[in-house]
Amino acid sequence: MSGRHTESQALPNVGNARSHDVTSIERVVARYAVAITPALNDVLDRDSVEDPVARQFVPNPAELESSDNERADPIGDDSHSPVEGVVHRYPDRVLLKLTDICAAYCRFCFRRETVGKGAGVLSTARLAHALDYIRAHGEIWEVILTGGDPLVLSARRLRALADRIAAIAHVRVLRVHTRVPIAAPSRITAALVRALKASKKTVYVAVHVNHPRELSAAAREACARFVDAGIPLLSQTVLLRGVNDEPEVLGALMRVLVECRIKPYYLHHCDLAPGTAHWRTEIARGQSLSRALRGRFSGLCQPTYVLDIPGGYGKSPIGPNYFLGDEAQGYEVEDFRGERHAYP
Ligand code: SF4
Repeated sequence: MSGRHTESQALPNVGNARSHDVTSIERVVARYAVAITPALNDVLDRDSVEDPVARQFVPNPAELESSDNERADPIGDDSHSPVEGVVHRYPDRVLLKLTDICAAYCRFCFRRETVGKGAGVLSTARLAHALDYIRAHGEIWEVILTGGDPLVLSARRLRALADRIAAIAHVRVLRVHTRVPIAAPSRITAALVRALKASKKTVYVAVHVNHPRELSAAAREACARFVDAGIPLLSQTVLLRGVNDEPEVLGALMRVLVECRIKPYYLHHCDLAPGTAHWRTEIARGQSLSRALRGRFSGLCQPTYVLDIPGGYGKSPIGPNYFLGDEAQGYEVEDFRGERHAYP
């Protein structure tokens, strides 16, 4: 299920939607895309106001409150878009935005001012221009399919794109950013996996997942279909207040990911998209969570805590620093218990 629900009766009848007044919820729905899938409905707790899965998808009147620091394009996609559908921010890779549709719409989405609001799918002519751009730039080593969510597209459409990317020799890696294995796992069919492999590139899939309960049995099977076909999986997690900002929850999520053969990749500080202040933690909180993970969980369970610098300057790691001091005073290294040791 995908698309934009504009009718209040389309909202899931769960605790936290019921607890707000209908007029406020309707104003959120009029402003931002709303959709939730049957697969997510199966894992969320309908009766809990604070359910960490439901809260991510059910509209909240707090989304109507924006601060001056928040902005429509928080990571500066537009300032690095040479042709429609392409974002070329770093030298060796581009984003290719195939669609503005998602299977379900996250209430904290960094592209919430555009997802579910545009033409749906990049037109044939615009896709041709985007591929021309990639073809003409020999420094592009990696193409990252994003959106929206590229895996809402049919296997047939993805196969057609993969065939065209296969013909661009300098592109060596195709990465797909998606929430579909979580939100609509039945879409991850053998045909879809074959479509991505038709690119003849090294394919990586980065799965967006924020809470251990999102990895339902069906989601795990969907993820396994990629790995069993030789496609490595990475994870992307957004640090969200009340969802995963406790070490036990974040650590449990990282363990489940590793058990599912998904390498934890990024822990994103929540971007400054409009109406998302209620989701954002302090950066100090994210750093202390990163320390807690390092202290208590396997090295496999360590994502990199990153901030997309507002204005389009790219991502920087903002996790804690364990190497302290300078040449004159001497150096110290902090161990996983928080104790410091001199380094000669
Ligand atoms: S899946 Fe990604 S692009 Fe879609 S609503 Fe969620 S965060 Fe935004």
